This record gives sequence, structure tokens and C-alpha cells, in this order.
Amino acid sequence: MEIKKGIAVSPGIAIAKPLIIDSEDYRIPRRSILASAKVAEVKKVRDAFRKAAEELERIDSDDKIAENEIKDIFAVHLRFLKDKSLLKKVTDLICDELLTAEYAVSTTLRDIANHFASMPDRYISERATDIYDIEKRLLRHLLGRKREDVEHINHEVVVVAHELGPTQTAGFDKKFIKGFATDAGGRTSHTAIVARSLGIPAVVGLKDVTENIDSTATVIIDGNRGMVVISPDEPTLKQYQQLAVEFERLERELDTIRDLDAVTRDGVAVELLGNIEFPHEAEIVLDKGGHGIGLYRTEFLYLYSETEPNEDDHYKAYCEVIRTLGDKPVVIRTMDLGADKFTQSRRFTREPNPFLGLRSIRFCLQNLVMFKTQLRAILRAAVHGNVRVMFPLITSLHELRQAKMIVRDVMEDLEEDSIEYRADVPVGIMIETPSAALTASILAGECDFFSIGTNDLIQYTLAVDRGNERVSTLYSGADPAVISLLRSVIHDANKARIGTTICGEMASEPEFIMLLLGLGYRTFSLAPPMIPEIKKVIRSVAIESCNNLARKVLLMNSEREVINYLRNAAIKVLPEVF
Ligand code: PEP
Ligand code: MG
Repeated sequence: MEIKKGIAVSPGIAIAKPLIIDSEDYRIPRRSILASAKVAEVKKVRDAFRKAAEELERIDSDDKIAENEIKDIFAVHLRFLKDKSLLKKVTDLICDELLTAEYAVSTTLRDIANHFASMPDRYISERATDIYDIEKRLLRHLLGRKREDVEHINHEVVVVAHELGPTQTAGFDKKFIKGFATDAGGRTSHTAIVARSLGIPAVVGLKDVTENIDSTATVIIDGNRGMVVISPDEPTLKQYQQLAVEFERLERELDTIRDLDAVTRDGVAVELLGNIEFPHEAEIVLDKGGHGIGLYRTEFLYLYSETEPNEDDHYKAYCEVIRTLGDKPVVIRTMDLGADKFTQSRRFTREPNPFLGLRSIRFCLQNLVMFKTQLRAILRAAVHGNVRVMFPLITSLHELRQAKMIVRDVMEDLEEDSIEYRADVPVGIMIETPSAALTASILAGECDFFSIGTNDLIQYTLAVDRGNERVSTLYSGADPAVISLLRSVIHDANKARIGTTICGEMASEPEFIMLLLGLGYRTFSLAPPMIPEIKKVIRSVAIESCNNLARKVLLMNSEREVINYLRNAAIKVLPEVF
């Protein structure tokens, strides 16, 4: 039995055999072979080297490749593939250590690449990329059709992968994929957010779970405590089977408060909205007792399809959500592309610092055709319901004014084309950067509402990549810097008399609810499956004690002190949720 500790991102317990997703971009898990399989494994490697070399020679002789520089690169790759000592290194690893062909190839080439990368000479260090390229080519030949395919799975599994993209996760069939575990990722990475929305138990940030896992082992994913148990012993397995039953019972119990108000013990009403990525989730929000959609992440329209959506695709998606919600609010966030979410055409354009790069509203303002197409669809759909438009990642008043100017342009275009649209649609912004939080009083004068994206706000305030497991312990909403910004934003918003929602993951973490209420927040938007639990927390507390708690927290100096205090307070109020 082996227990691995990671980051709990989506609650629940899943027990099944693993489906290990090997990715050519990431480390291949270390797996052993029987001594009797040695010869076959060595033959596989020789074949892969031969086929890769033949492939390169074929491409190289193609008349279309006239550039000498490209021919030179191919020549270097070919030399590597025909290098007898390289082949020997790989086959020795298979024979001496009884490892799979793919692992032997991957680890040998990565060692060479790392060696190159560490050279001070830039020309030599950059050759590491060539080695990775050769590794990928060989792995493609070795793994070929054998690579396990999530889409065609037809029995219950838990997925184990180095990293999963949000789109890949969104395509999971819940009937068969009972949970997942990844080496990479953080609590607020978009993959984690999708897992929560789907209600699939998940643990991320496990660092090396893919390396030692055996495909025949039983795997337990504990999405409540952030643990993965590989090959559990009998008592552990029994204990987890019991926990899974109890978890389901708690879920059913929470569903019974669906139709009760989200109101504190002393009668203060709170609005609970849902975050969605796809139109069909609107139904789930209502089902879980949500009062509307507080964040519709429309970029998933791009992420999920092979082609870029047109105005009609946007319009249809928005109308579907609006139809489901009736006159309840629907906050449509304009595309938040870039960083870890790419369009079809930009998928392969990598930036050195994507979270600080051309993302969100910046991307839209530089791609006006795309932006205007979406805005046209939103303004047209807004005629049918209680729609609001929201811009992500605003960092300055100038940016807000630019975005609003585009909205006005689009309205004029629609006017000229005699197309019906809603002219008085409320326009709000996400507060996701320290610059926006610190200038909230200025921004509030020129928009209709705020929504605080704590996932990004924490990332940018603390300079911690929200998806990087290596710094995940530094990522925390309990940091005094974050709390201070949250306090000043609600103060500025109240003064300007505009509404403010919290739509980041902090709103779905029970230990933060008392603090957020005490700071003055009254509207939360969260992953639909979390709504009942948060409603239960709200119904168990009194505003007076939340205010006292917030006052005390604002005097604390360290994240540790704050989080311990918040956890203890929450456990006292609601022991069964923790
Ligand atoms: C946030 O940043 O908190 C947010 C809600 O937006 P996203 O998670 O989509 O970046
Ligand atoms: Mg964000």
C-alpha cells in the first residue's frame, strides 16, 4: 500500500483501477517488465529507432523542404537516431533494469537533454529542444495506437495523468470516469474547477503519482483530504468503502435544503449563484438551489469545439442558458482566453509567462473581430432575459473604457443593421488583480457591478502561479494581503453603491464563508455542486459572530494564524462538514 498526498480539489471518494494517460509532453511512468519480455522490448526499441530515421529521411528528401537550415536540423536528428551508443544505452537499461521500452527511451533522452540544457553556451543549451523532439518522435512510434484513450473507455476507472487540460476534463464521461489524480495542478487551476463542476472527486499536485503506478493496482482517490491510496490493504479499502457510502449520504441530506433560503440565523439574506462553463450546467445550478448564474465562463465555447464558434453559436449557447434561467440573473463573462485556455488557432503559440501575457480582456482588445462577434451575440441574447456583461482581468480604467467603447461600437453596428439588442445591459468587471482592487473606487464610478475573481486575485497578489504544484503551499486566500484587498474592495463598492459578488473558489470553501460575510459580502457565485454545502454553512451562522470574527482576523499578521483560526471557528459551527 502506498499513500500519496496532494491537493484536494473536488470532494468525494472514488475507488477503481487506474487509466494511466501517458502524454508525449510529459514523463513516462517507470514500469517494470518480466525478464522474459526483454527481447521483445529491445526489438520494439530497435524498430522505433529505424522507423523514426526512415520517417526523417522521407521528409528530408521531400522537394518542398528547400531551406538549408531545416535540412541541417534533420541531419542532426538523423545522426542521433543512427548513433549506436545511444541505442545501446537504451537497450542496456531495458536488459539490466527490466524497464519498459518507452521508459528507457524517455529517461535516456531526457538525461541527455538536461545535460545539454545545463551548458552555459546558449547554442548548445538550446539543442535540448532537439532532443525532446527526438524523444517525442520515438515515443510516437513506441506508443502508437497503444496509448490509452479516455474517449472510448467503457468501464469504471480513475484517471491518473501527469496533467490534464480543462477541455480534456470537461469531456470526461462521469459514468465511467469516477475520479482523477494528477502530478501537476493547483486548487484553482481550470482543470480543478471543471472537476468540481462535474462533481468528479479529484486530487492534483501529487508531483509523481504517474511514475510508480501500476495499471493493475486498485486506486483510491480521496477528494476530501487530498490523498491517493495505491494498492490499499484490506482494512483501508473497507474503511474507504464505508466513507464513500457516508459521503453519498451527506450529499443526499444536503440536497434536502435545496428549497430553503440562504439566510443566516439572524435573518440576513445571502444570494447564492452558480458558476458554469457549459449551457447545460444552468439546469444543475437551479437543481442545487442557485438563484442565478454569477459567472458564465464563455471561453469554454472555444475550448470544446474543433472550430472557432461563430456569432450564431454564441447566440444559441447564451439563449439556452437564458431560457433555463427565466428572469433570474445571468452574468455572461466575455472570453477569458490565454494563460491556460487557448483558441484553436493559438493552441500552439506559447508565451514565456502566459498568466502575465496576452490573456483575457487584453486578448479581446487585440482581437476585435472575435470580441465584437461575441458582444453582438450577448447583446442580442440579452433581449430575452436578465443578462449582465462582465469583463475579466481589468487592470486599469483605460482598459475598462476601451472595452466599453467596443460595446458601444457593437451597439451602433446592430442599430445600423436593424437587429434587436438590449441597450441598457448592465456592464461589470472582475476584480482579479491588485491594480483593480486598489483602484476599485475609481473603477466603480464607471461600471455597474464588481465580481471578485479570488483565484486570480490571490495568484497576482502573492505572485504564485495558481496551477503550479511546486508553489501551491504559498497560495492562500487567508493571507493578510488578500484579506486586506477584499476588505477595501467591498468598502469602495458599498460607497459607490454598486453590487459585488465573490465568484472565485474562495466562495465555495466553507472555512472562508464566515470571514466573507463578516467583511460585508452578501453574494457568492460557486460551482453548482457546492451550493448546498455553502447554504448549510450560511444557515448555521449569525452575522454578529461573523463580524466579530472578521474584526479579529483583520488584526492578524500571518496566513497560518488566520487559516487555523478560520478552521477552528468553522468546525465549531458545523462539525459534520469538516
Ligand atoms: C477567478 O479568477 O477567481 C475567476 C473566477 O476566474 P477564472 O477562475 O475563470 O480565472
Ligand atoms: Mg480569473
